[in-house]
Amino acid sequence: MPAILNGTVVLPDRILKDGMVQTSGSQIQSVSRRHRPGRGITEIDAQGGYIVPGFIDIHVHGGGGADFMDGTIEAVLTTCRTHLKHGTTTLFPTTTTGSMAHILEMITACRSSAKLLRSGRETGAAIAGIHLYGPWFAPDKAGCHDRNECRPPELEEIREYFRTKMIRIATCAAELPGAELFWKVARKHNCLITCGHSNASWTEMSRAFEYGMRHVDHFWCAMSSVPSLRQRFGTPMQASMAEFVLMNRDMSTEVIADGCHLAPELLEFAAHMLGPERLCLVTDCNRALDMPPGPSVFGRHDCGTPFNSDGRVGWAPSGSLASAVTGMDHMVRQMYQSTTVGLPAVIRMATLTPAERTSMQLTHGSLEAGKMADVLVLDEDLQVRHIILQGKLNQ
Ligand SMILES: [Zn+2]
Ligand SMILES: [Zn+2]
Repeated sequence: MPAILNGTVVLPDRILKDGMVQTSGSQIQSVSRRHRPGRGITEIDAQGGYIVPGFIDIHVHGGGGADFMDGTIEAVLTTCRTHLKHGTTTLFPTTTTGSMAHILEMITACRSSAKLLRSGRETGAAIAGIHLYGPWFAPDKAGCHDRNECRPPELEEIREYFRTKMIRIATCAAELPGAELFWKVARKHNCLITCGHSNASWTEMSRAFEYGMRHVDHFWCAMSSVPSLRQRFGTPMQASMAEFVLMNRDMSTEVIADGCHLAPELLEFAAHMLGPERLCLVTDCNRALDMPPGPSVFGRHDCGTPFNSDGRVGWAPSGSLASAVTGMDHMVRQMYQSTTVGLPAVIRMATLTPAERTSMQLTHGSLEAGKMADVLVLDEDLQVRHIILQGKLNQ
């Protein structure tokens, strides 16, 4: 039953100086100004640092040399363990394009791993559900995913995945034929429906919105723009996914704030134009996290796409970016340094906002009595010092 004290507690809208977070079992018991914790309570000294909720990552592929798509329990647990060290206490394993058999293997491995993590027999970031990401991408926006595995959604395949009851976030390029079949099923399963790796127009986004689409993956990356739509449709020029998200207050999105994908002014722009309630931080991290720089594979080890990690980001052979290689703690530091929105807003983007978008805000995402005791202690430079996972001091 640890109590974390002597730190600045970061709440979604403000900070609480010299605050204390007390836990009871796996839950937060109270958040208050400092007072003496009761007898027999372990004290964790934040040493003047920050006390923040555990990070929630809704878009993550791998880490520690493993990719969720490897499809083994070992690979899933390695990834969950690696991201926990970077402050992520909850994540949504994210598929890449691949065959139906490989995607189903990944889902099965995640289901078994989630059980092991829940039972406490294994330690790592908790799995809150799958982000079904590939294979329903527009081939002209495949990015570092295998282009040959991009395909339009078909009912049989959609049903196979959703039948597992593991899918909580689901992506499909809005312009693909058959997209409405996907939206109908995803909606029935109460998923966060997103559009990504897409060259969709405003009109196509409006249609998707009517079917329940409310989120766009990695803003500015592998998505349509006014010039890309001009190539598709000619003139008059059409509004793109970017304008649709910026204009529509029910839409949220995410940024890869590793400092390599987007320049600081784009992070500042996104933080201000969308606000912390509509913007999530994601890692979009691949297996190269915490691995030495060098050649690696994005997606499943035996049939993914090759890329090179320079230790800061992944590079495809074509010279374009191949997703991130850093953890959520890095994204939080980079976002804080690049923007003027302040720490509560930045922390919100990595905690409460992703919790709200995936309907888990009643139990996760902020330091509040009754919520899961996933708590981090960060030092003054926002480096992770302690991790309390479900009430247990892990580091
Ligand atoms: Zn992507
Ligand atoms: Zn991704």
